[in-house]
Amino acid sequence: MITASPTCIFCRIIAGEAPAETLFRDSFVTAFQDIHPVAPVHVLLVPNRHLESVNQATLEDEAMLGRLFTVARQIASDLGIAESGYRLIINTGRDGGQVVPHLHVHLIGGRRMRHPMG
Ligand code: 5GP
Ligand code: ZN
Repeated sequence: MITASPTCIFCRIIAGEAPAETLFRDSFVTAFQDIHPVAPVHVLLVPNRHLESVNQATLEDEAMLGRLFTVARQIASDLGIAESGYRLIINTGRDGGQVVPHLHVHLIGGRRMRHPMG
């Protein structure tokens, strides 16, 4: 079942009500270009079902959560950064720096990431 929040920008993108450059879509997840990329590759992967953050994930979400990773791997490969490397980021809640309250994975690459995190 796909539940949507009418006020959520990512739900509106998934529903086709707001524009986005979509790279991938299946029954679990949608991937689209971040509107403000911080690196040459910056893709967002989101569950089709509205889930505010990892804090709301349950056992029933495990297939979707796994799919986020395998789709990220496939997109990294398709965009030619699998070998050079990339970073997957899931910001969660206020201290995690989450701005959009719909669970999402950032796939960032195409340049050398700075380290350490935080
Ligand atoms: P967060 O800080 O919540 O982890 O990241 C939210 C991300 O969503 C940011 O990188 C921001 O650029 C992106 N974003 C916010 N609004 C939109 C939008 O309307 N369309 C797209 N494609 N990305 C968005
Ligand atoms: Zn949503």
